[in-house]
Amino acid sequence: TCILAIETSCDETAAAIVKNGTELLANVVASQIESHKRFGGVVPEIASRHHVEAITDVISEAFSQSGLEWDDIDAIAVTEGPGLVGALLIGVSAAKALSFAKKKPLIGVHHIAGHIYANRLIEEFEFPLLALIVSGGHTELVLMKGHGEFEVIGQTRDDACGEAYDKVARMLSLPYPGGPHIDRLAADGEETIEFPRAYLEEGSFDFSFSGLKSAVINTIHNAKQRGKELKDEDIAASFQASVVEVLVEKTFKAAKQYNVKEVIVAGGVAANKGLRNKLAERFENSGIPLHFPPIHLCTDNAAMIGAAAHIAYEQGRRHGMDLNANPGLELY
Ligand code: ATP
Ligand code: MG
Ligand code: FE
Repeated sequence: TCILAIETSCDETAAAIVKNGTELLANVVASQIESHKRFGGVVPEIASRHHVEAITDVISEAFSQSGLEWDDIDAIAVTEGPGLVGALLIGVSAAKALSFAKKKPLIGVHHIAGHIYANRLIEEFEFPLLALIVSGGHTELVLMKGHGEFEVIGQTRDDACGEAYDKVARMLSLPYPGGPHIDRLAADGEETIEFPRAYLEEGSFDFSFSGLKSAVINTIHNAKQRGKELKDEDIAASFQASVVEVLVEKTFKAAKQYNVKEVIVAGGVAANKGLRNKLAERFENSGIPLHFPPIHLCTDNAAMIGAAAHIAYEQGRRHGMDLNANPGLELY
């Protein structure tokens, strides 16, 4: 089974062709980061316009990369939500038009299901599994007892993890997206500032990053007022230590409590070296295998959408021409 997948939920225009849910035949990502950088974040209107301009070329490129033709394609998958509505609409419209013109079944995919299934392009899942999702818009612990079954056991009550990275980066005048820059700085810094750890109530698997964000703002502000020199590297290292410690401890506790067979990590912040190292350390000798997607499959791409769509395809799930972009779609 070959699925053509399309992803346009944010600021990357992406198309991929995935065979049997696990084999990547083409993976094309056109990033708009350069266009959004000077605004310090993604401008929705600009994102939509770029998607319109890029979508046709990106899909053609996926066909040339794979060497396949339309006859080889069994279904068309697209991210239906969540994301920026105008951005999502470009992908959904393209997928619907192609589905109608080429008479191929249409499958809408949840963006976060996609992030999770990026891991299956590397290794088969073993259930029950625990997924830690850390991205620009989400921070969640999801328990999966089978394919396409998602039970959210914890989530952020305010900012997403990637959002916190991007906001702290902005305070340090680092370019958008700031996550990778903080990661790099943190590697050269020392944990000299003790920032709060948001564990919340005993037993909760929820997260919170807004208090930490405020603590970072206040620390920078106070240091400036007192004429005290703080090294950006140390701020980055201290911030990252707080984020990573809570993510690691809650993931470890949930993995034990739910007795899972493996833990997988997903989303843009799964690219973070500090998080990867600390998780690996914590799970070493735990008897619970830990998996990350390769870096290029952590951030937005269509390969992960194709991987998730394969399961929906096998389960007989199809969408009609009434498929619509849904910016607030719940995980299904
Ligand atoms: P969502 O998937 O929740 O809809 P999104 O698609 O915008 O949101 P992703 O593309 O999955 O998010 O991830 C982008 C986020 O990942 C950004 O916030 C970015 O700063 C962060 N990020 C990327 N690489 C790293 C890194 N090495 N360390 C920390 N954060 C990172
Ligand atoms: Mg992105
Ligand atoms: Fe994403």
